[in-house]
Amino acid sequence: MKYYNLKDRRVITGFREAVERGISPDMGLFMPERIPRLDDAFFRQLPSMTLPEIGIEVGSLYAGDDIPRKVMRQICEEAFDFPVVIRQVDERKLVLELFHGPTAAFKDFGARFMAGCFRYFSSRDDKRRVVLVATSGDTGGAIASSFLGVEGVDVIILYPSGKVSSLQENQLTTLGRNITAVEVDGSFDDCQAMVKSALAGSANRTNLKLTSANSINIARLIPQSFYYYYAIGCSGNGRVLSVPSGNFGNITAAAMARRSGLGIDHLVAATNVNRVVPDYLKTGIYAPAVSVATIANAMDVGNPGNFDRLRRVFDDDYGAITGSVSGYWFDDDRIREHIGQEYQRTGYLLDPHGAVASLGLDAYLEHHPGSGGIFVATAHPAKFRDIVEPLTGQTVEIPDSLRNFLAGKKQSVKMKAGPQNIEEYLDDIYQNE
Ligand SMILES: *Cc1c(COP(=O)(O)O)cnc(C)c1O
Repeated sequence: MKYYNLKDRRVITGFREAVERGISPDMGLFMPERIPRLDDAFFRQLPSMTLPEIGIEVGSLYAGDDIPRKVMRQICEEAFDFPVVIRQVDERKLVLELFHGPTAAFKDFGARFMAGCFRYFSSRDDKRRVVLVATSGDTGGAIASSFLGVEGVDVIILYPSGKVSSLQENQLTTLGRNITAVEVDGSFDDCQAMVKSALAGSANRTNLKLTSANSINIARLIPQSFYYYYAIGCSGNGRVLSVPSGNFGNITAAAMARRSGLGIDHLVAATNVNRVVPDYLKTGIYAPAVSVATIANAMDVGNPGNFDRLRRVFDDDYGAITGSVSGYWFDDDRIREHIGQEYQRTGYLLDPHGAVASLGLDAYLEHHPGSGGIFVATAHPAKFRDIVEPLTGQTVEIPDSLRNFLAGKKQSVKMKAGPQNIEEYLDDIYQNE
């Protein structure tokens, strides 16, 4: 499979290069040159396939010769060694729970698959690889836990001091080994600017390969389609799928799966008040905005990084995208109310992100009475105990995976904001290799 740069279609690379670069130097996203169609035999077998088995088939189509099939098998078996759970919430609604991985959020799927690709690539030469990531919370934890102990790869995570929750901070700072947490005296935007500038300067570094692990890496996007095949395989064709969206990677992966032939009836893009995409779907005008803080904070994105990819899946055809995707947005009051009401009505406990998806599905089903659907729950409610416990009056059980992080010892490198500081840090550490 070849990948092209969305900003300059003449630039073509293979899977490996697209993954190792993350983004092209002109900040263009890599996009597969076509969405492969899966054949009837695959769909016939789907109901009995496990998630790793699906990953091997679909992942191999996207990776082509850059990852041999037996390596793909190993990557998928190691990455997806935790359950994906589908539950019936009421007669018309199923939930797809993607939060049973090590950091209790769906980002584990993409991060662990990407780490597996890096493990393989780094076994093929003796270059040192450095993965840089700026995080406002969840991404850093998933990357840290996924890359822990991967040989030949160092991970440097920049986070804004005092602006992530203590659980999130522990997920970044207690692992050690090849994971370094850099605590920046500044904002998330400062962290991002520092990563960008280090990547821009990376052409001058011949001794190491620098890359970014943010959500636009194609190796994080592709595995996010695997669980949609699994969900439809388990529950049957023809359902509506509602995805809680921020950077729009998760729903883009669903759109790609649908385009490959998967029987998803319709997609719902559900957001908090950061509503640029629902507005676009309604008006045709895309107006990126400054992000607004909400209780579904992993979706506080004003200019979604994967929006161009989502449009591309529909050949940039507005009629095609609006025919297949509906958008709905909800404010914090509505999200809070829904968490309480759904708990009362069904006994199902939602986190704020899952609640947005559940609301989006309800909104669509209200106008399409014959349909049923699946909404996606992306974070464990225990990560948002302060919010959900008062709404439901129930204490939330903390999963063991999260509990382990509460005990570790924090270690971080303190750094002032500013691109030159991260550059100097990299110079210091890697100059003599
Ligand atoms: C990142 C994240 C989202 C948004 O996913 P996108 O792919 O960026 O749209 C939703 N929920 C949770 C819990 C997340 O961490």
